[in-house]
This record gives sequence, structure tokens and C-alpha cells, in this order.
Amino acid sequence: MAKRMIIGDIMMEGEGMEWRNWWEAILELVFPGGNLCPFCGQNEIQGQDGVICTTCLKGVLSLKDTIPTCPRCGHFYAAIDCTNCLEWDNSLRKVLGVVPYEGVYRELIHNLKYSGRQELSKPLGYLLGETVKKSGLLGKVHLIIPVPLHPSRHKERGYNQSEWLAREAARVLHLPLDGQSMIREHFTKPQTGLGRQERLKNMEGAFRLRDNSKVLGRNILLVDDIMTTGSTLLACAHTLAEGGAGKIYGVVWAAGGTKART
Ligand SMILES: [Zn+2]
Ligand SMILES: [Zn+2]
Repeated sequence: MAKRMIIGDIMMEGEGMEWRNWWEAILELVFPGGNLCPFCGQNEIQGQDGVICTTCLKGVLSLKDTIPTCPRCGHFYAAIDCTNCLEWDNSLRKVLGVVPYEGVYRELIHNLKYSGRQELSKPLGYLLGETVKKSGLLGKVHLIIPVPLHPSRHKERGYNQSEWLAREAARVLHLPLDGQSMIREHFTKPQTGLGRQERLKNMEGAFRLRDNSKVLGRNILLVDDIMTTGSTLLACAHTLAEGGAGKIYGVVWAAGGTKART
């Protein structure tokens, strides 16, 4: 799998999905039995879920036992008094992060987000779901909503990677998914290089509920790929709260880390 991924990425830079599928099929013939774990690239994937090896599954789910993590915003490498979520209001109750934004975890989400490797949403979404189960949040939420992309960004990219992740997480958690009610109305500047306050200001008012009937009185679990300060999730939470949603939580693939950025 590791060999296939590297070759695939070099050869398929900028190409469409059909080419990638075709290339994957050829590589499958050249490197048979490539059902290897995408995290370690070494162990065969086993079990009914078939998305990650048991060693890596254990490793990912026990990251919070060894890395200090903020119980409110999910930031890895957080100080005891986390400054990231200091100014969050109560509309966003809690965010869970699956992994820190570094190493293979960063590489995998980049492959999903920028190279359109949708198949990676299976292991990543599965781990989002398992993280929610482990946290005890599952019994508290009714509906999953992915962070929407602006329509022009969606058109340009061809997909919303957060929706891919949310779909898998919803499947694992047996919860309904709503990718329609909330839309991204304003095209925001890239957040990179902006400070905390600027990010909050940049994102506020970016989202709108076009229909609140599904979210009314429901507890929501927002899903996103990477969280830096949380300004995007916070803006979503404000929109949902104003629309009459119940308690709002979030789960993201990567939260903070040594080289955090969006
Ligand atoms: Zn593995
Ligand atoms: Zn925090």
C-alpha cells in the first residue's frame, strides 16, 4: 500500500479520479496482496472493518494517554490551561481530535484533501467514529453535519473532504448525516497567517442555515478535517445555535500539533 501510494501520487499529480482508479488497478496486478494498513504500510489489514491494522488502531486510540490533550477543544500538546479555547463561548461544547497534525497523520489527511484520495476517508472516518464512541459522546448526539465548503471551492475541488469523513463516521456511529441544511455563504480568505482574533472575525457569518427543520432541538456533531484555532467550527456552532439547534459538539481528524496550520 505504501509503495502504491507513493507511486500513485507521483504519477497521478493533477490527474482525474478515473486515471487514479485505472492506475490503482494496474498496480494491484504488479504488487498483489496490497491490502496493507495505510498507517504503517507494513501489516495486513484484518477484521471485518478492514481499514487499519490492530496495532495502529490501538496506537491511534491511545494517543491521548501519552500526549497532553485539551478536554475542551481537543488540541494535542495542550498546556494544562489551554489558551486555544479560552475565548470559546458555550455554543460549541466540546471538540474531539483523533490525532495531532503531524507525521503520517498529516500526510494521510493531505492525500485525502489535496489529492482527492477518497478511499482514505474509510480508515480516517472509521477512527473519527471510534474516537466519538470512546469519548462517551455517542449517546448525546442526534445528527452529524460536515463543515460545508463554499460552492465555488466545492466546484473547484470537486468534493468536500469533510463530507467524505462525516459520511464514514455517520456509518460507523449509525447516526443520520445532514449535508444540506447548512451552507457556506461567504468565501473567506485563507486562514493561514491570521492570528486567533483575525480568524474568528474572518469566519463569523460565513455560514447560513437554509432550512432549520432538521436541526431544531437536535444535538449536533460537526465534522471537519483539520482544526487549528477552531474558528470555523465556532462559526458553524453560532449559526446552528441561532437556528435553534440543541447542544453542539465537534470531531476533527487533526487537532493542533507541532506544525499546526489550516
Ligand atoms: Zn498499521
Ligand atoms: Zn483547549
